[in-house]
Amino acid sequence: MNAPHDFYTVEEIRNRLSMSTVVFWKYRPIGEATLSALARHGIRRIELLESPEQFDMADRGSMRYIEDGCRAFGIRIVAYHAHMTHFSGLDTEAKRQAQVDRCRRQIDTLLALGGNVWGTHATATDDTLLRCTTELARHAEGTGAVLLVENFKDDGLWVEDRVAFLDRVGHPQVGMILDIGHVRNREGANPMTIPGGPERVVALCRRHLRHVHLHGFREGVDHYPAFAEGDEILWVELFRALRASGYGGHINFESKGEPKHLDTIEATARAPQRIVAAEAAARRGDAPPAGAGRITSDR
Ligand SMILES: [Zn+2]
Repeated sequence: MNAPHDFYTVEEIRNRLSMSTVVFWKYRPIGEATLSALARHGIRRIELLESPEQFDMADRGSMRYIEDGCRAFGIRIVAYHAHMTHFSGLDTEAKRQAQVDRCRRQIDTLLALGGNVWGTHATATDDTLLRCTTELARHAEGTGAVLLVENFKDDGLWVEDRVAFLDRVGHPQVGMILDIGHVRNREGANPMTIPGGPERVVALCRRHLRHVHLHGFREGVDHYPAFAEGDEILWVELFRALRASGYGGHINFESKGEPKHLDTIEATARAPQRIVAAEAAARRGDAPPAGAGRITSDR
């Protein structure tokens, strides 16, 4: 007898879907026009990309303007992606403390907006990062905030390195953002495009996995819209692995937009249906629909 099939419904993915404002990065400011474009496509939750030329994530007053703008369109900020915030070059204790203090204020404004995911690009996985992270974790205790580091292609910043670091931190509110476009194997290929890869990488993250950066990947280039033409991500295997692991975070897409990709918001809004349809097709053994990415065979 077969075990009952357990996969996401379109509704479940939609309810947990969020979208990074990287879609507007360096091109369109966050405001009425951009927020209404998201709302028009049913995107109601966002991961806000740190953009100091537009707003200050460490300042409640500044973030209130963004909050008001979002509220007008029924959009909630669920995460901050403080991609310009890191802990390198802090060569004096005063500088280190100032940076930790700035991060504390970012976390506070995020919580005030009702968000819970605070992710940085923390570079070197070193003792300074460990110390800063430990102090910030203490600050977050008693709140719902999770403080996260992301994996990158550079040496020392791979999933394996981040997981080893998180084992050292050992705090339930400190974890990992899995960016599916930044993963590499020893041969330089992205395992998220190779059968068996998504399952292995999700397993590698273990309990540390708290957030995802999902985007299409083609010929070594990331941040495509999901299911873009030629997208090589094994979406079915990835979502099966997330489902099986009990991943409880936001289903967050981080595709870039204009001027490179013109239909990113539409593609992201359509992603839940496409993922569920691709999984159902894989189960039936059908060929993948055009543009649905490659599909792993059922085991
Ligand atoms: Zn990312």
